[in-house]
Amino acid sequence: MEKIKMTTPLVEMDGDEMTRILWKLIKDELLLPFVDLKTEYYDLGLDYRNETNDQVTFDSAEATKKYGVAVKCATITPNAARMPEYNLKEMWKSPNGTIRAILDGTVFRAPIIVKGIEPYVKNWTKPITIARHAYGDVYKGVEMKIPAAGKAELVYTNEAGEETRELIHNFEGAGILQGMHNLNASIESFARSCFNYALDTKQDLWFATKDTISKKYDHTFKDIFNDIYEAEYKEKFESAGIEYFYTLIDDAVARVMRSEGGYIWACKNYDGDVMSDMVATAFGSLSMMTSVLASPNGYYEYEAAHGTVQRHYYKHLKGEETSTNPIATIFAWTGALRKRGELDNLPELMTFADKLEKACITTIENGEMTGDLYLISTLENKKKLNTQDFILAIRKTLEGLM
Ligand code: NAP
Ligand code: MG
Repeated sequence: MEKIKMTTPLVEMDGDEMTRILWKLIKDELLLPFVDLKTEYYDLGLDYRNETNDQVTFDSAEATKKYGVAVKCATITPNAARMPEYNLKEMWKSPNGTIRAILDGTVFRAPIIVKGIEPYVKNWTKPITIARHAYGDVYKGVEMKIPAAGKAELVYTNEAGEETRELIHNFEGAGILQGMHNLNASIESFARSCFNYALDTKQDLWFATKDTISKKYDHTFKDIFNDIYEAEYKEKFESAGIEYFYTLIDDAVARVMRSEGGYIWACKNYDGDVMSDMVATAFGSLSMMTSVLASPNGYYEYEAAHGTVQRHYYKHLKGEETSTNPIATIFAWTGALRKRGELDNLPELMTFADKLEKACITTIENGEMTGDLYLISTLENKKKLNTQDFILAIRKTLEGLM
């Protein structure tokens, strides 16, 4: 069989621990036999980040701007324990944070749905994709403990030195205070990333804030989304047959619970933090969550939502058998290959991505799965496979589809 051709390379960002093991298995067993894989390789494993003073992370993000599509393996964000473990020169920053800052993107997370892994909310038959604004609000809040009676004000001083003041509260006793901010430019990028991604995936977009209570702060979010929608996206949405829908956050939560899924839910930073954990848990498993960073300029970086599965890696190092789920990492590859196929007009590459995803789902639905899914699957004839055997089972299904 002739291998499927690619024209533009994918930016390949290798990573750490158990997911680095999965990465190689996925390439060797599921990609290289079928695709004439073209990638520009960046080793984001912690050793090489340390060796290059993290330059490799910056280079990989710049390469993503050049080529447009990247696929990333999970990486370690160093903490104190990692300093001696990897003999680090510095506690390097989270690669995801660095890449997100350079691409100015929004992260979209969606569950992969298979028969046998039933969501806790029984009417959620389609995935719910959460988009979380990743800048500001309470995450950049400045706080104060007010010890005793006194007056608290908001003060803005413009460049000419003129002040605008707003009374926050006349404290009669002790209390607490918090100042937070956001930037129009950041909200605009968030809005454009969301509108583009909705068009891209042909799904409705929901957005919610508490603008009835927060008449300036939250209302600005609502207005920016609305203005950009009206000016740049309304016609595109109408011709794609999708909808932009704004409502209050509490109404959104009620509607989400009653819905069947199948839309993107754009959330302010805090709402996204909370709701993404709720949605992920309700859909069953972190190992079945995909994640894509989409920038307002049309750059994409695909990855799994989970981390490097450290505990499994230590077992692997001791020579013990592991049963680590590769599905989210495989879907990162298929997402990136499909997008590459779409941009380069390579229908065969897109079809391959579809078939590999189908092979993953069919394999699980036929009862072959890793331990995490085995624990929660409602299938009767289920079998737990180790890491390698599960990937080989997917390969067998894929060969049947090719
Ligand atoms: P994790 O890698 O997400 O794993 C946490 C636990 O979830 C695992 O111990 C395992 O449970 C289960 N799990 C997650 N993915 C799984 C999979 N594919 N198959 C089977 N089980 C899976 O989180 P962590 O162990 O707390 O973090 C490890 C490292 O990942 C940290 O250094 C962190 O910085 C990094 N991290 C990176 C990213 C990223 O690059 N995007 C995201 C998050 C964390 P059991 O042990 O019970 O089997
Ligand atoms: Mg959280």
